[in-house]
Amino acid sequence: MKLPILILAVILCLFTRCAGIKGSYNEDIISFSEKQNILIFNVDIFNGKDSVLIKNQDVYIADGRIQQIVPAQNIKPKDAIPKKIDASKRINGTGKVIMPGLIDSHVHLASSGSPPWQAVRPNVEYNLRAYLYAGITTVYELAGLSGKTHKLKGKINDGKIVGPNIYNAHLPITVKGGHPIPMAKLGAPFPLKNLVDILVPTIAEEEEAVPLIKKYTKNNIDYIKMVCDQLPSGIPEMQPNLLKALVKEAHRLGYKVFVHIGSSENAINAIKAGADVLAHGIYRSSLSDNDAKFIAQSKVPIIYTISGFENAFQFSQGKFIASKWDSLLLPKEILETVSQSQGAKINKVDLMNRFTEDIRKSRPFWKENIAKLRKHGARIVVGTDSTLPGTYPGSSYFQEIKLLREYGLSNLEILRGATSYNAQLFLNDPDFGTIEEGKRADLLLLSANPLIQLEAIENPEKIIAGGRIIERNN
Ligand SMILES: [Zn+2]
Repeated sequence: MKLPILILAVILCLFTRCAGIKGSYNEDIISFSEKQNILIFNVDIFNGKDSVLIKNQDVYIADGRIQQIVPAQNIKPKDAIPKKIDASKRINGTGKVIMPGLIDSHVHLASSGSPPWQAVRPNVEYNLRAYLYAGITTVYELAGLSGKTHKLKGKINDGKIVGPNIYNAHLPITVKGGHPIPMAKLGAPFPLKNLVDILVPTIAEEEEAVPLIKKYTKNNIDYIKMVCDQLPSGIPEMQPNLLKALVKEAHRLGYKVFVHIGSSENAINAIKAGADVLAHGIYRSSLSDNDAKFIAQSKVPIIYTISGFENAFQFSQGKFIASKWDSLLLPKEILETVSQSQGAKINKVDLMNRFTEDIRKSRPFWKENIAKLRKHGARIVVGTDSTLPGTYPGSSYFQEIKLLREYGLSNLEILRGATSYNAQLFLNDPDFGTIEEGKRADLLLLSANPLIQLEAIENPEKIIAGGRIIERNN
């Protein structure tokens, strides 16, 4: 059975690579240096965790890591980094702030985000550059072909291409006919439609959990993704006993589990089954105060991905408007086909129309749902679900943050959710997500304190990823 699946996967890759028109991507969106020894002197630090800045520090970067953080030379010369230190780049941080690079904890790399009515070929290496452009230095791929992603990670590690630090799952485990199968088939040309059923792993009986997880972990993965949702409502959904059996086996083998959920019932079932992370917020139902309390007290982090759902709503109204960052980062072949009345074509695609109908009904509850979760102390982290129509690499992150703020999260909550909290979703001791000695040199140099002016993260003066300096070219 193994060989035919491999052949099918190759055909699928070939098809996705050839399907659609070529987008006019601005390939030179960023330029970047080799890894450098960098000294940032007299800078204030938001370390990703604390509500106050650590003032006037010298930060020394070498071999792609933060080697030393000490009070600045002009403040405390005795402890200072020696003046003769080998730093090819010296950056005056006076009056500026560094913070950890941003983390997008819900992405799909191998997509262009074009709508079904106008396929544009995916440009995966461009997507990676777009994340860096936005200051996103780590992404979690929550479903994709793990073999392809593994190759991409290898190319980044070998310095052949630039991109954020990538962690990944394989295609998500679902039930026959469950999400994402119907959506993945949508717009897929023959014979791709039939391949989707074969490639996406499904479970029907509890006894299948052990061999299924064993097979899943043979892929190059960092964690496991499962689906417990109806997207759109009415399609088959994973039952709690199956979810429980899958999570139990995943944990036995030492893997954390991200569960895509939609309703509050899905969220509660996922948590009771032992889920480690909820891969969406509660977007498909209203949330009672009691359920919010249960979810929050479980301490299971929630990657809210509100922008993807908001964009689907805007499409259905024929009101999607590309943001400033979308316009800078996306080819016109994509943006023109989704903007305003063009985007309303979503209503003519039956499956998508049913999905946006669900959203139109549930959207009035979204703000209240988050408020209830916050009230009980839920841990909300920042992810976008890019790349989807309307929700694109890099640009959607700024939209997500704006929406979370509109929904009442404080700047500190958002910044922790974008950095230190996001880094702890599946790793106990991540080497990124905070500004500390020994961590990866993934950081943003800002002209203002993001705890007060959150928008400062949209225009960093410098982006440093693994010790490379990234410059925007527009
Ligand atoms: Zn997703």
